[in-house]
Amino acid sequence: DQRKVARALLSVSDKTGLVEFARALAGHGVELVSTGGTRKALADAGLAVKDISDLTHFPEMMDGRLKTLHPKVHGGLLAIRENPEHEAAMLAHDIRPIDLLVVNLYPFEATLAKGAPFEECVENIDIGGPAMIRAASKNHDDVAVVVDPADYAAMVEELTATQGATTRATRRRLAQKAFARTAAYDAAISNWLAQELGEASPPVRAFGGKLSEPMRYGENPHQSAGFYVTGEARPGVATAKQAQGKKLSYNNINDTDAAFECVAEFDPARTAAVVIVKHANPCGVAEGASLEEAYVKALRCDPTSAYGGIVALNRKLDAQAAREIVKIFTEVIIAPDAEQEAIEIVAAKKNLRLLLTGGLPDPRARGLAFRSVAGGFLAQSRDNAVVDAMDLKIVTKRAPSEAELANLKFAYRVVKHVKSNAIVYARDLATVGIGAGQMSRVDSSRIAAHKAGEAAQAAGLAQSLAKGAVVASDAFFPFADGLLAAVAAGATAAIQPGGSVNDKDVIAAADEKGIAMIFTGVRHFRH
Ligand code: 5GP
Repeated sequence: DQRKVARALLSVSDKTGLVEFARALAGHGVELVSTGGTRKALADAGLAVKDISDLTHFPEMMDGRLKTLHPKVHGGLLAIRENPEHEAAMLAHDIRPIDLLVVNLYPFEATLAKGAPFEECVENIDIGGPAMIRAASKNHDDVAVVVDPADYAAMVEELTATQGATTRATRRRLAQKAFARTAAYDAAISNWLAQELGEASPPVRAFGGKLSEPMRYGENPHQSAGFYVTGEARPGVATAKQAQGKKLSYNNINDTDAAFECVAEFDPARTAAVVIVKHANPCGVAEGASLEEAYVKALRCDPTSAYGGIVALNRKLDAQAAREIVKIFTEVIIAPDAEQEAIEIVAAKKNLRLLLTGGLPDPRARGLAFRSVAGGFLAQSRDNAVVDAMDLKIVTKRAPSEAELANLKFAYRVVKHVKSNAIVYARDLATVGIGAGQMSRVDSSRIAAHKAGEAAQAAGLAQSLAKGAVVASDAFFPFADGLLAAVAAGATAAIQPGGSVNDKDVIAAADEKGIAMIFTGVRHFRH
């Protein structure tokens, strides 16, 4: 998979490190060809370098708009080596292979950043550069392409190590980087033109989204909003069909997404599951033998908060579950599918939206998550860690019982979808107390315990539902106090990532109280 570099084409606006690099190439016997400015810089440094016109027999023209756009150049980049037809074409048209392309583009972004006038920005849109980069990248099986002076040194190292060749692994990595560069370059141009045209929110375009729905307003009535879809084929709120009900609001969409992503953690082949969400946090999650049972269990966790909530189901909505759900005011139901009878039951509630997604998203799938900050946005890979794939370590003297273990895993699935700091109490495969979004883990712990007490009261039970429950924490307990608060409330087992400098103290506290504790090694922060 090595390819000898016999000829290199260098055409760079940013001449940083150019001469050194070209000298190293020449040292490996590489023939150098360049465009006007680049050629001059190399010749001035005493290097033997051909002019691009010697290849094309065409002068550079139109203020440099046409320099390298020529079959002799693109043929040399695109021809597949050891392909008889391509070789014959090269021979017939006197095209010689180019093995290494070194290009960095007209400084469009820098020109824009310094506030240059429109025409100057236009003149700084590189045409031949990206064309060559794309040609060489497409043909990276044979051709290496370097678009960043920061990669010169590594290229020289590789040439030295291989007696003047490049490896396929390197060529592929460079091709990936090269396409990323041309994509970013074109995005910068497109965003600039959008801005010039007075189009709204170029940052939104940078997310790669298409406006699907303008909305009446955003999170609050004085904010404008739109729903942008990326085209990702993930079953969910963006791709769902709305079977009935009025238009979804900004908050509805956000909450529905949170609910459905959470319920997707539960494999429908294993169990029925229901998630009720309020303000993007689950306020009740449960597994059950049926959706109806799961819903009743989920509702019991926090019936007050569930009012006006979003209900997500992991299986086809049936009539029994629908009958239960419509008993209280609910904003949205989202499910993979629904029985006809269930659709009719829901239809009796005019405003209740029913969304059918056609399937469940894969919680393990990779994907991107975005968040805006002043002047930019953050992108990260989706949290696709699932408890089933984690290396669970029992760190206490007592191991969890089978029932505890099932509840611990259940609670850890849920805690991933609760805003940090997150504490979840669970028993009988249902949440009984959820503490979300507190700045201190102890406070979340207390709130969750308090909720478990309230839930018991609402159900007419004398004892808090936290008694005999298990507890999950989305991040490690930095001190024993958070765990002790949970134990005081009645938790008998705990699951958490571990990894605190105080782990030993926390484990000792658990052992002293006879608690079984599991470390997952995976944190589930969600802010
Ligand atoms: P030089 O300084 O060598 O004269 O020009 C180098 C720059 O020209 C590089 O940024 C390269 O991307 C760009 N370039 C190379 N070929 C063409 C072309 O055919 N058209 C345009 N517009 N730019 C080119």
